[in-house]
Amino acid sequence: MKTYLIDLDGTMYRGSQIIPGAKEFIDALLARKQPFVFLTNNAKRTLAQNVEHMVNMGFTGIEEKHFFTSAMAAARYAAAHYEGNKAYYIGQDGLKEALLNCGFTLCEEQADFVFVGLDVEGTYEKYSKALEHLLHGAQLIGTNNDRLLAKPGGFNVGNGSIVAMFEYAIGKPSPKIGKPYAPILEEALKYFGLKKEDCILLGDNLETDILLGVDNGVESIMVTSGVHSKEDVERLQIYPNRIVEDLRELI
Ligand SMILES: [Mg+2]
Repeated sequence: MKTYLIDLDGTMYRGSQIIPGAKEFIDALLARKQPFVFLTNNAKRTLAQNVEHMVNMGFTGIEEKHFFTSAMAAARYAAAHYEGNKAYYIGQDGLKEALLNCGFTLCEEQADFVFVGLDVEGTYEKYSKALEHLLHGAQLIGTNNDRLLAKPGGFNVGNGSIVAMFEYAIGKPSPKIGKPYAPILEEALKYFGLKKEDCILLGDNLETDILLGVDNGVESIMVTSGVHSKEDVERLQIYPNRIVEDLRELI
């Protein structure tokens, strides 16, 4: 049986509202013991907070071992590709947890890295502190490059826009980690001991979830409960292996 790598926002829920069919789909996977992992660009929540968020919506049988976030991918990618372990970060509990679990020391001075996840309380002062580290040679690591962050009725500034601000300031790019870029997939495969031919990517976003599959030779299924519709497939010319309107079609 293949392992589902499942997107969260727009696929399982919208904000804190469960998407019809999502719970039934997860219940079916649990019942037939088909493995699954929630693969998310959201770096904000800890593993425990991710579980709590979904349990509060009505999901059952969800455990911490079911999540792999862009924060976890960023921490593991940085540890594998660069020297040093002193990290300054702009982000929330999820990024902090991922860094500590990966052996980084959090610091205010002489940082080897500046990690940028989403911090909804980010301030000019914090950004300037981060910039100071970067100008002294710290490596910039953005967890994900989402330009926008969907909210009911509109959008907030996405983490990718903050990462781009730092890239502009220092004139050097961050490695790209989150969906649709390969590192989040590669780190997840390593972490769970999987091969890409054993996985199916499932998500609502053609430009992140599905493109990750297309670019890396992983089977992909698009669900039209989130940001993109069937019409967008031709417009964007990003082709999933299958399109469903409701996850119950996969049961
Ligand atoms: Mg999504």
